[in-house]
Amino acid sequence: MRNLKIDARRLWDEIHETGKIGGTAKGGVRRLTLSDEDRQVRDWFAAKARSLGCTVSVDGVGNMFALRAGRDPNRLPIAMGSHLDTQPTGGKFDGILGVLAGVEVLQTLNDNNIETESPLLLINWTNEEGSRFSPAVMGSGAFTGALPLDEVLAKTDRDGISFSQAIDSIGYRGPDPVGNRPIAAYFELHIEQGPYLEAEGQTIGVVTLVQGIRWFNGTVKGQDAHAGTTPMHRRADAMLAFARLTDRIDTIARKHGPLAVATVGVVDVPSASINVVAGDVSFTVDIRDPDDAVLDQMEAEIRKAAQEIGGLNGTEIQLDCFWKAAPVPFDADCIASVRAAAEQSHYATRDCVSGASHDAAYMQGIVPSAMIFVPSQDGLSHNELEHSTLDHCGAGAQVLLDAVLNYDEKSRR
Ligand SMILES: [Zn+2]
Repeated sequence: MRNLKIDARRLWDEIHETGKIGGTAKGGVRRLTLSDEDRQVRDWFAAKARSLGCTVSVDGVGNMFALRAGRDPNRLPIAMGSHLDTQPTGGKFDGILGVLAGVEVLQTLNDNNIETESPLLLINWTNEEGSRFSPAVMGSGAFTGALPLDEVLAKTDRDGISFSQAIDSIGYRGPDPVGNRPIAAYFELHIEQGPYLEAEGQTIGVVTLVQGIRWFNGTVKGQDAHAGTTPMHRRADAMLAFARLTDRIDTIARKHGPLAVATVGVVDVPSASINVVAGDVSFTVDIRDPDDAVLDQMEAEIRKAAQEIGGLNGTEIQLDCFWKAAPVPFDADCIASVRAAAEQSHYATRDCVSGASHDAAYMQGIVPSAMIFVPSQDGLSHNELEHSTLDHCGAGAQVLLDAVLNYDEKSRR
């Protein structure tokens, strides 16, 4: 029985060292994808991986691959990965933990002169967050063929800068083709970003499924009008219709609970003025549930509510579903490797459904995959105060190491 121990302190120090790149006054990280801060952390990652003896390559959308040779070069690599980009007011752990824990796994193997049977591959995916270029999980989406490459390259940010221009400006459009890199299995460690592990006092979440997501762009068309001279009964108030719909969306999600969620995240009122009845409102809706049938129902109910509310106040509400990800169950063998790894270290464990989308969900579409969660303090994420403890980060890295070694041993037989 092997007894390899990762160095939680070394991992912790690297989280804090790289956290200075784009570090904010409140202790968070602002490292938007393909920004100069992203370039700096990519440079750090490439140098670190090379120092550990890995070969580093980059594909045409900037996904980075650090390869550690195995005993049998004919075997497909077992991959680990996550992302180093953050939200505009992000934390030090979301995505970053998964990549740096992978670094720690490689360091531990090196320290102990362990040669795995299969090669190991550590991946840093481009633009997981989707806040600068929408949609999210873009690098893995392009890699797995779920998002067409030309569409990804043509995406623009709010300043009109294209993905293509941005990737060239930081020098990370690599020569490798996007996709067509065979992989045996994929493991991703991530913070839970939700409250369940902490609330129940558990250390490791064995993620069995990523819930489904649908994203909508909505518009309300009414009529701009004078706030003082337009009687209430003559108004086609887009703001009012929007507010009523927002309330209904909340009610619909609660009705389908406990796992169903719905969020109106962005609202724009182009004619916004204190003395104007708004004629136009645009907004976004994000709905999620582990069950596609529930998502169908929620979507139908939201569309019906939009029609009713618009009809009542003379506005027209349109909803365009522009991104849809079905629920993704993970691979049974990979899940078993994670579960066995958690048991080896006697961590308190529970099965989890991932509420957030992850690169692993796209990867599961083409290779057997699984995820490991560790607790998020107060369930907080996409927030500068996002926190996971040194012990929990270390436990996650330990399970990542053992899950990869379990899988490697299984495939040896
Ligand atoms: Zn993430």
